[in-house]
Amino acid sequence: MSMGRTLVRSHVHAQKHFLTASASRAQSGSVVSTGAAASKTPLPPPSQGRWRYFLQTLGRVTLITVIGASATFYYIAHKEKNPGPQLPFDPSKKTLVVLGSGWGATSLLKGLDTSDYNTIVVSPKNFFLFTPLLPSVAVGTLNARSILQPTRYLTRHKQRQVLVIEAEAKEVDPVNKTVTFSDDSEIQGQISSTTIPYDYLVYAVGAETQTFGIPGVKEHACFMKELHDAEKMQRRFLDCVESAAFPGQSDEEKDRLLHMVVVGGGPTGIELSGELRDFLEEDLKSWYPELASRIRITLVEALPNVLPSFSKELIAYTERTFKESDIDILTKTMVRKVNEKSVVLKGPDGVEREVPCGMVVWAAGNTSRQITRDLMAKLPEDQTNKRGITFDDHLRMKGARDIFAIGDCTASTYAPTAQVASQQGSYLSRVFKLLAKKDKLEADLSHAETSEEAEKLKKQVDKVKLKPFHYSHQGSLAYIGSDRAIADLPIFGREWTSGGVATFMFWRSAYLSTLFSLRNRSLVAGDWVRVKLWGR
Ligand code: FAD
Ligand code: MG
Repeated sequence: MSMGRTLVRSHVHAQKHFLTASASRAQSGSVVSTGAAASKTPLPPPSQGRWRYFLQTLGRVTLITVIGASATFYYIAHKEKNPGPQLPFDPSKKTLVVLGSGWGATSLLKGLDTSDYNTIVVSPKNFFLFTPLLPSVAVGTLNARSILQPTRYLTRHKQRQVLVIEAEAKEVDPVNKTVTFSDDSEIQGQISSTTIPYDYLVYAVGAETQTFGIPGVKEHACFMKELHDAEKMQRRFLDCVESAAFPGQSDEEKDRLLHMVVVGGGPTGIELSGELRDFLEEDLKSWYPELASRIRITLVEALPNVLPSFSKELIAYTERTFKESDIDILTKTMVRKVNEKSVVLKGPDGVEREVPCGMVVWAAGNTSRQITRDLMAKLPEDQTNKRGITFDDHLRMKGARDIFAIGDCTASTYAPTAQVASQQGSYLSRVFKLLAKKDKLEADLSHAETSEEAEKLKKQVDKVKLKPFHYSHQGSLAYIGSDRAIADLPIFGREWTSGGVATFMFWRSAYLSTLFSLRNRSLVAGDWVRVKLWGR
């Protein structure tokens, strides 16, 4: 072993000597034989030569990598920013109307072959919002822009033009196959409402936040669903801190203003509490040293434990981490009322208590939108589940032949998650490819000239079979603050659980890779670096 190494070394030295010698010759311009030069020039100590060689190679490799990566980055960014020309609408194609621009709709649009359809997207938001990172926006870890992606950014890269309309759908008529929508934004033109027909409709309008009719929630709590919710929460939180810092504020009032109550022990509530703690630990302690120790975070959950979808170990781990971080978890506790300056809680002992607080964040469950309830009411025989739209194996809304329903607006055995909605969206893009094929064959069949041709086409039509939708669970991930995350991942059919700092790195890389564009990935990564260097 040692001899082998010595041999290799002396070989490398000989090569180095040769290189150094020829280099010095080239510099002096002398024409002497190698042997003579080698005997005259004193050789540098071997280790120094090896270092130089190593550093030179490292330098070259780094340079090539940096140039290569920058060129690729620039190329992709340039391509994203400069879409080419698109095919115009084709009157012979069917019209596909997509309602929504969230997880379900965006994932459908991503996979859809738009050359098969005239596609129209209607949504009150002209962008896609990456909801899993919304809690990070609420405390300023990420900029709002970093996690949203304009829908046109996606559709402009499609083969055929896609019409994107910023409007809210008001009514769907499943019998006459039309959608009525209107522009409810601040500024409107002469026309702000219209009705269009569809051949196929993808219904992906998501859900609203469930308030269970508890008084005061709508008026006084912050939600955590839309971008403006996160921005509002950020403003309010800082407002609470600044108001507590106002001269002459009593200790009691300071404690009230600095008490943050998060309602809902699901992943959103947990992530939000974790993010608030980070903000407190990493930033507020430096900027408001006299107030930081007074800030309290309380998480309220009606069920016996938080994170019902995670495994027992991870629930215990999260509860331990929260305890270390001074986040109070109140389980089996119901919110009875939200007031301007307090919240009324009913604990497991059945006693109601009024708890003073500066802010209440409401992250507790989903309920159907009005338009969904109206649509279901039009099909009373088939749509009887109060939780949302029911569908068949191919995600067709029951009772309405050409409506497909995906995501949070539906009621099924699947959890209302981005993972489900996006898998349903990409499944539908494959369904639409097959439907286009089938439609074309059927059109050809109706023009068939001979009975043989007709027979052949009929066989082909029968061969086009849609496979039922199948959900494949990729695991659950959640950030719990203090640079720690938890993960429940099914690996080779077994449940693999992990929590801690390594999982946090995994959480970050998983989210970076699921973000939809290079632009989002760069902005989010940039924000993380910014926060590490300069705080929030
Ligand atoms: P959405 O994504 O909500 O999209 C609905 C779309 O419809 C929106 O574009 C909306 O503007 C539009 N719309 C609304 N009304 C109308 C109308 N009348 N007409 C037309 N369009 C309309 N899931 C996970 O899997 N992992 C997570 O980590 C995770 N974290 C989350 C964190 C937060 C803070 C939140 C709020 C949710 C999180 N979720 C997560 C859940 C996930 O966001 C939802 O399950 C997912 O968004 C559902 O997709 P969707 O397409 O059904 O609805
Ligand atoms: Mg407008």
